[in-house]
Amino acid sequence: MIGNKAMYDQFFKAIDLNKTIRNAALKSAEKAFWVWNVEKNITNKPKEIQKLKFYEGSSILYSLLRNYDRKYISKKVLKRIYETLYKGAFLSSGDPDKNDFKEKYGIKPPNFITLSPSKACNLHCKGCYASSSSANAEKLPFDVTEKILREVHDDWGNRFVVISGGEPFMYKDSGKTILDLAEKFDDMFFLVYTNSTLINEEIAGKIAELGNITPAISVEGYEKETDERRGKGVYKRIMQAMDNLKKEGVPFGLSITGTKNNADILSNDDFYEYYFEKIGITYMWIFQYMPIGRGFDINLMVTPEQRFKMFNMWEKCIKEKHYFVADFWNSGIVSDGCIAYGRSGGYVYIDWNGNIMPCVFVPYHRDNVFDLYKNNKTITDALFSDFFKNGRKWQEEYGFGEGKTPHNWLMPCSIRDNYSDFRKRIITKDALPEDEMAEKAMKDKEYYEGMVDYDNRYREITEDYWNKRFLGKTK
Ligand code: SF4
Repeated sequence: MIGNKAMYDQFFKAIDLNKTIRNAALKSAEKAFWVWNVEKNITNKPKEIQKLKFYEGSSILYSLLRNYDRKYISKKVLKRIYETLYKGAFLSSGDPDKNDFKEKYGIKPPNFITLSPSKACNLHCKGCYASSSSANAEKLPFDVTEKILREVHDDWGNRFVVISGGEPFMYKDSGKTILDLAEKFDDMFFLVYTNSTLINEEIAGKIAELGNITPAISVEGYEKETDERRGKGVYKRIMQAMDNLKKEGVPFGLSITGTKNNADILSNDDFYEYYFEKIGITYMWIFQYMPIGRGFDINLMVTPEQRFKMFNMWEKCIKEKHYFVADFWNSGIVSDGCIAYGRSGGYVYIDWNGNIMPCVFVPYHRDNVFDLYKNNKTITDALFSDFFKNGRKWQEEYGFGEGKTPHNWLMPCSIRDNYSDFRKRIITKDALPEDEMAEKAMKDKEYYEGMVDYDNRYREITEDYWNKRFLGKTK
């Protein structure tokens, strides 16, 4: 939960009033949010952590409002966001349903799933695994995607879904697409990672009509960097898709992979101003390159020094500029660390073969939806494999959960930032690699040493800073 309901009710009710009243409502909502998060601090986490949660939460409101005023978000869509995403997903962690789940299973359910229904993609980006442009590439039957969503909707109380790929707008089975999925589950909100090149005026119109989808559109930087990796002319097609969405009042965001090569761009104010002010995005997700998948390359990761600069930039964005930016992994503080392994409030990842993974960036699985369904089991059963249980135990020991003092959440990732723990304490022998490269990574001594060395170097930069600033400890 990232705030109390009264605060959001007040804000969303006032959104259409004249600017003076509306701004006063925004300020008072902010104040309530501050009191809730920082002064009352029901989580009992250190105040410095709660302050960052406050800035991230209020940056969402500012970013929505900014684009609502520009008419890039329609009233209808904003209302749907409030009903599905805010009330349904963010504000419902204390729901009786979830407490029932806890009573039965001993943990609260995850808050969402990421589902990749198809591996097919219409682009051929350098280094990407999803190279097949055939609509018949590996994919989940539509009735299985429906069954999965029905389960997490009814049993876990989920109202938020992330769709990834492949290119989600390429997905088609039995004549049905992801738009049919969003129509069927109309009280759920869908965040769809897309290259956007298939979002023409018609698709943008349909998305607006449904009102429960936001596309997170991939770029690599500006036009030059994007076309270099994604193909000549792709950036212009992206701009066209964004125009189509703005015209229909659909909020969209940006998704960008941070590497050693574009980290300088990502550490500069200009980049954020360009996309938030000139282009009109509502949010930006930065995923620092994780060396998994085809042709993984440890040397492409942002360096420890670049990463710390990006942390400062992220803080500046949410605190001073009110831009809703999340940087994975620098923003792990606001989610109380790693959210994988079906943690309470966290998520699981299911791919086009039905494999159930702890996270998009942990390419190993123990269970598969087809096998589970064949044996009259459910996805809930997958939460209790030793692999997932080990992950959750590690998260708790690393500071997640009531009354726990967090370890260094500037390095929250169970695999990328704590690779030796991942290998020694989390992954189990029965976990299968997702692909050849994931298998290779497990056997490659250089990979192991490179990952551990990276972790040690970043710990050296951040450990004292973490202890001093967030835990108030002096050496
Ligand atoms: S494993 Fe890493 S990438 Fe996945 S949720 Fe945890 S912190 Fe994020």
